[in-house]
This record gives sequence, structure tokens and C-alpha cells, in this order.
Amino acid sequence: GWLGNHIGGRPGFCFDVRVQLGAGAYICGEESALIASCEGRRGEPKTRPPFAAQSGYLGAPTLVNNVETLCAVAPVLAQGWEWFATLGTPQSKGTKLLSLCGDCVRPGVYEVPFGVSLAEVLRLAGAEAAQAVQVGGASGVMVGPASYDRRLCFEDLPTAGAVMVFNGQRHLLKIVHYFMHFFVEESCGYCTPCRVGNVFLRRILEKIMAGMGDAGDLESLRQLSDTIIATSRCGLGHTSPNPILSSLEQFPLVYSSLLQQSDNGLERGFDLERALAPARAIARRPSSVLEAEPERLAASGNLIARSGTNEPPETW
Ligand code: SF4
Repeated sequence: GWLGNHIGGRPGFCFDVRVQLGAGAYICGEESALIASCEGRRGEPKTRPPFAAQSGYLGAPTLVNNVETLCAVAPVLAQGWEWFATLGTPQSKGTKLLSLCGDCVRPGVYEVPFGVSLAEVLRLAGAEAAQAVQVGGASGVMVGPASYDRRLCFEDLPTAGAVMVFNGQRHLLKIVHYFMHFFVEESCGYCTPCRVGNVFLRRILEKIMAGMGDAGDLESLRQLSDTIIATSRCGLGHTSPNPILSSLEQFPLVYSSLLQQSDNGLERGFDLERALAPARAIARRPSSVLEAEPERLAASGNLIARSGTNEPPETW
């Protein structure tokens, strides 16, 4: 009786709900981009102020709430706020819907009281032996077994509800790389730190995964992540480096095991052969100049051709 026209018998007191489907853009989960999308405009975050509560949908004051929040209204009205406040923790009252997926026996949507431990959630889903859990979706944090006693609530480990489980067969850097690729694709492109910074983060990751990284690259990941978080315009850029920062903290060995071990103090930063391979494949050219024309190069006097050795050329 609290939806529709003339609620409670009051003339003109009307309130209704209409479900508006979006086109699926990740950025349209951001409040001002969501409103722009509902207005039929490009889903792009706005600069604030004015805030949506002052000037939102079609210029009218607008409050944006999660569907989950609106769903909680019905039981609160039916059973009272005192009952609702008995659930959860002091700063995170009520329950939370978790969407559990990945390497678990029982994936699905679970409603749990705030404050439940990650270990308990994994037990519910049949994933006690998980290698890692991504809490909060792509922009959330990657958590390792040593932190499975952490609790899902605003005081400890906040989450929007998406929980992804990864077993021991998964390559964690591939997962982090996938998330960064996702953010590069989903960035609206308005501000430079997010549009460019996420591309650079992905490149550094690729360098490390190719075995060409060094300790300086780990530091670059941290510094660039901090810059993107501090200077981006909306929540996407504020959170996109989270998978990198959390995996660096929780799984340092995954990164360090891929770094170059240099005996002579020199480290390769670029693999020319690897970079040229796709173009060579398209042009159907041999894999190296030396392989293609060793005699001509040797005769030119500019380069003494080498074979089967890592020694530098004798003359240039
Ligand atoms: Fe767009 Fe990213 Fe800037 Fe947000 S942080 S406004 S998604 S470019």
C-alpha cells in the first residue's frame, strides 16, 4: 500500500517504481553517469558540485540508491528498524547480498549478515582451499589465505557484493592483467590519469609477465597507482589500481618470481625479437636479419655476423 497513487488516501501523494534497463556500461554504475544515461545522454561522470541531491535527473534533486537498499526497505517497514539493527555490526547494520562465483562448488547469491568472515563465506560456497579471493569485483581487493579471517563490513573489508574465488590452478597475474584490460576498455576517457594511466599499468604488468621486469617496475606500479587514485575524476579511476596494489601486498612472490635475475647488473627492458614477431609473421620474413643475410652483413664490414654465441659483435 505504499506504492502507487494517492498513498494512504492522501490526494496527490504518489510514488512508484519503474525499472530502466541500461546498456551494460560499467561506468554507468557511477551516480552522475547513471543519471546522464537515464536522460538519454552519454554515460559520463559529471564534475561536482552540483551534487545529484541538488541537481540530478533532468535538473531535479535526485537521490540514487542501490536496488539492494530499496529491497531492504520492505522488511524494515514490516519488522521495524530495531530488528534490522540487531543484524550486522555496529557500523554495518543489516545484511549483505553476495554474488559468489569462480572456483567454488556452490556459486550463487547469498544473503549474509554484515560482519561474516571471508572463511565462513568460502565454507558456504565450498571453496575452503581457495588460492585467492577477489572481494568487491574488479575494482575490489585481492585477498590471500592469511587474511581469510577478515570480516565483510565497512569496519574491515567493505564490498559491493561481488566475490570471485580462484583456486591454485589460476595464474594470479593473468587475473590482475584481465582486470586492468577491463578498466582500459571501460574508462570513459574523460580524464588523463585514468585514460592513460591504466594503459601504462597494463603495459608494466605485461613487461613483468614476459620476464622483462625488474624491481623498478614494481615501484612504478605503486607510484602510478597512487597517482591515478589521487587525480582521477570519478570512482572508476579511484579504484582501478586496487587489484594491482592488493595483489602486490598479498602475493609479493607472484611478482618477484617473475623478475629478472641479473648477474652483471644489466637488465633487459625490451625484447626486440618478441616485439617484431607479429609483423614478421604477417610479412612472412625470417625471424632475424642475421638469419636472413649473414654473408652480406659480414661483407659490409659494419657487423661481424655471430652464430650460437651471446658475445657482442667484434666491430660495428
Ligand atoms: Fe572517465 Fe576514468 Fe576519469 Fe572516471 S576516472 S571520468 S571513468 S576517465
